[in-house]
Amino acid sequence: MCTLSDADREMIRKAKERFAALPPNQREKIERAVQFAKQQMNAANMPDITAPRLIPELTPEQDAADLHRDRLKHRVTKRVDELYARRLLRHPACGKRGAIHVSRPHQLGGIENMVYRTLCGRLDCPHCQRRRLCKTLKRAATCVLDAPGEMYLPRTEELHVLETTWREWAALDKAIRREHGGEVGRMRIRRDDDSVLIVLEKPFAGSTPMAPHLTFDLVEDAVNQLASERHAFRLLGSFSDRIPSEWKLIQRTNEFVNFSEAKQLLDSLGHRGRLFKTSELNGLVFRSETERQGNDLVLKIVAAAHPTAGLSEFSPSVSQDSNGETWTDIPEPTPPNDAPPIEYHNESAWQPSPWAIAAR
Ligand SMILES: [Zn+2]
Repeated sequence: MCTLSDADREMIRKAKERFAALPPNQREKIERAVQFAKQQMNAANMPDITAPRLIPELTPEQDAADLHRDRLKHRVTKRVDELYARRLLRHPACGKRGAIHVSRPHQLGGIENMVYRTLCGRLDCPHCQRRRLCKTLKRAATCVLDAPGEMYLPRTEELHVLETTWREWAALDKAIRREHGGEVGRMRIRRDDDSVLIVLEKPFAGSTPMAPHLTFDLVEDAVNQLASERHAFRLLGSFSDRIPSEWKLIQRTNEFVNFSEAKQLLDSLGHRGRLFKTSELNGLVFRSETERQGNDLVLKIVAAAHPTAGLSEFSPSVSQDSNGETWTDIPEPTPPNDAPPIEYHNESAWQPSPWAIAAR
């Protein structure tokens, strides 16, 4: 049996669109490259690049669950398409808080200048609320209908559904974690009347076992009544779909750092630094071989900016939050009002680098 998931189909459709939108000379370049790759693969006796990927035969149980999954995911896709069929007004502040610019070389030549405008996320912004609803529906469908960690297989095991109220949620969640451990999968949906639907990976006192497709009907109803408060929908424990950030906060300091001077220092040490500035944020990006070297450079920059301050001042106590991320309690640095403006090189290409310091 051979199937393509909705996500696969969407990816192929987008890739075709992007390809069709390219100028003819770039399309030819890619076509030549594909031809060349096919010749090489033939010469090496490899299966053709267009051969469909084979997925192992599903059990009758998986097959039935897969039919439900297809139907329900199609329903979500249709709903999202309907919601996006008309234009919605944005809040006047939406997308205008600031912008992050990135210039980078494109793989087909030339420089791409990109701008990222942060959305407002306001409750009274129809545009942002629609985005929130659609995103929540998709995350909920993936969580309930896909087998854990296996997007190509449907979930077949029953889930466990529990109703509570917002007031009782915290205590109930604590009891669930006490019984099953903190990693047990939990989905929490807070409705606008402060009732809460919980979907659990494992049974708990008072919960009802339910097939994934029936669970999703309940989940979809609850999402349609989603409370407007933050974190009304959460995926916890093994249900979490959070992708850990590739950025790591090394330290914070109360001292103001002049990034132009810091860049000069980096240059003198043989590290090329780049300054960036947006309306919200300015900073300095540089590359280092290892995390330790990056850390040492940050210490040198801070020490050079404030030679009288001892290094211990820049080694704040580090604590860990529940997600295992390190963070510190030291407040954001406040730059003096007479801070010199920082140059921003938008025309030059820079690669995203694993090291950066920034200040508001
Ligand atoms: Zn908005």
